[in-house]
Amino acid sequence: MLPSQLEMLRRLVATPSVSSPDARFDQSNRGVVELVAEWAAELGFAARIEAVPGADGKVNLIAGLGEGIDGLVLSGHTDTVPYNVERWTSDPFELTERNGNLYGLGTADMKGFFAAALHAVARFEPNVLRRPITLLGTADEESTMAGARALAEKGESLGRYAIIGEPTNLIPIRKHKGVFYVRVTVGGKAGHASNPALGINAIEGLQRVLIALETWRDGLGGRYCDDDFEVTAPTLNFGRVAGGDSPNRICDECTLDIDMRLLPGMAAEEVLVELSDQVANALDGGRWTFDVQPVGNYASFSGPADAGFRSTVETLCGCSAKTALFATEAPYLAQLGLETLVLGAGDIGVAHQPDEYVTMAGIERATDLYVSLIRRYCTEAA
Ligand SMILES: [Zn+2]
Repeated sequence: MLPSQLEMLRRLVATPSVSSPDARFDQSNRGVVELVAEWAAELGFAARIEAVPGADGKVNLIAGLGEGIDGLVLSGHTDTVPYNVERWTSDPFELTERNGNLYGLGTADMKGFFAAALHAVARFEPNVLRRPITLLGTADEESTMAGARALAEKGESLGRYAIIGEPTNLIPIRKHKGVFYVRVTVGGKAGHASNPALGINAIEGLQRVLIALETWRDGLGGRYCDDDFEVTAPTLNFGRVAGGDSPNRICDECTLDIDMRLLPGMAAEEVLVELSDQVANALDGGRWTFDVQPVGNYASFSGPADAGFRSTVETLCGCSAKTALFATEAPYLAQLGLETLVLGAGDIGVAHQPDEYVTMAGIERATDLYVSLIRRYCTEAA
């Protein structure tokens, strides 16, 4: 028998699946994927668990129900971010109800989605499906997006429409910026501070780079603009500088970590070339060396092209689709030809924080929305 939504959420929260670029916190997501696969199999899904290449212990779930093409994909990530246990009011792995809220790590982001999606499917007899339902459970969304990248690279045709159940307060999201991390390293030569001729100060080189990049950034806003976003321009933030060790030594190396938020339509590769040119020009005439490396790239998203899908979802939700400030797996599903929207219960504002929660009312409302979408896209004539 399929467990209740509350019991599903309890068991999913009790199964740790932290993903993190920091190996001290990183865990396998297999336990969560196996739970979802077991429940999906009870509903008649054919479920496959696939290892994610290059990510040890990480797996994707691909489960299909019904025959044919052009079906609906319901997709969620199975991992959570790390947590600070001392800042939680209750055990992050024990689903706890207080004031009508269900607290636990990953409740909103996004284990609650699987309870909603599975119970939505449970309301249909498999023989009423004219087009298939595909349930995806991905790995490492919170760290590298390796799971979704692997699906995109494999290129398997999964359906025509997709909903990603990230917490959006049940407001459909049709667009978000990309996140691009770059590290600039400036190299000089160490020496005694008493005589500048003995070395090449990397901090002085970086200073030139900072001024050049600030000017370049301010120019980007005039070249790229998207009024759909609250912050209409691409952004560039100097997030961290590091270098030097002692006032009496000439600094021989420093690094600068940059966060850029790119608009849909901007290619990270082209931005990187421009950025590298800025660094090269800024340091021209000096004896510094430099290196510019991309260290993280999460694509922007703009979709769906299918206006009918968007308006169907907007009508069901009773509001127009919006843009988001956070990145999702949507661009990777879009690469598979899926018309994609992001829509799920819970508030992104409580995600990635102590005392994350979702409400049962939210999960039930999400379930009803997913039922309507399954009815429209998998049971009705095309
Ligand atoms: Zn998420």
